[in-house]
Amino acid sequence: MTDTIFGKIARGEIPADLIYEDEDCVAFRDISPQAPVHILIIPRKSIPTLDHAQPQDAELIGKLFLAAAAVARQVGIADNGYRTVVNCNAAGGQTVFHLHVHLLGGRSLGWPPG
Ligand code: AMP
Repeated sequence: MTDTIFGKIARGEIPADLIYEDEDCVAFRDISPQAPVHILIIPRKSIPTLDHAQPQDAELIGKLFLAAAAVARQVGIADNGYRTVVNCNAAGGQTVFHLHVHLLGGRSLGWPPG
């Protein structure tokens, strides 16, 4: 198991601007927001990248996206729309190696992403 800053946030060892938590997932505001709403949803379980996810993680990954949708409704961006992003490894832009979903909204988002 790898440990990262997100693992420490999930265990409550370092502070974060928490938005939501349940037994499997934690959501908190990104420290360097790229949109008016930029929240990260992470599993408590440490999975370094999406490429490390195993068939037994299927339910957990489903819960992660359902938590992202619940958080989007909670912060009021669901009706206008939002984007969920999972960066994987270096060329995908991943910098923290604890699987996480970015929830971005509060403005119109361009496509394709950079
Ligand atoms: P990624 O590049 O997909 O791995 O995303 C990592 C994200 O974590 C970036 O958007 C960072 O701004 C964010 N980040 C890094 N450290 C923290 C922290 N301590 N609290 C909140 N967000 C963080």
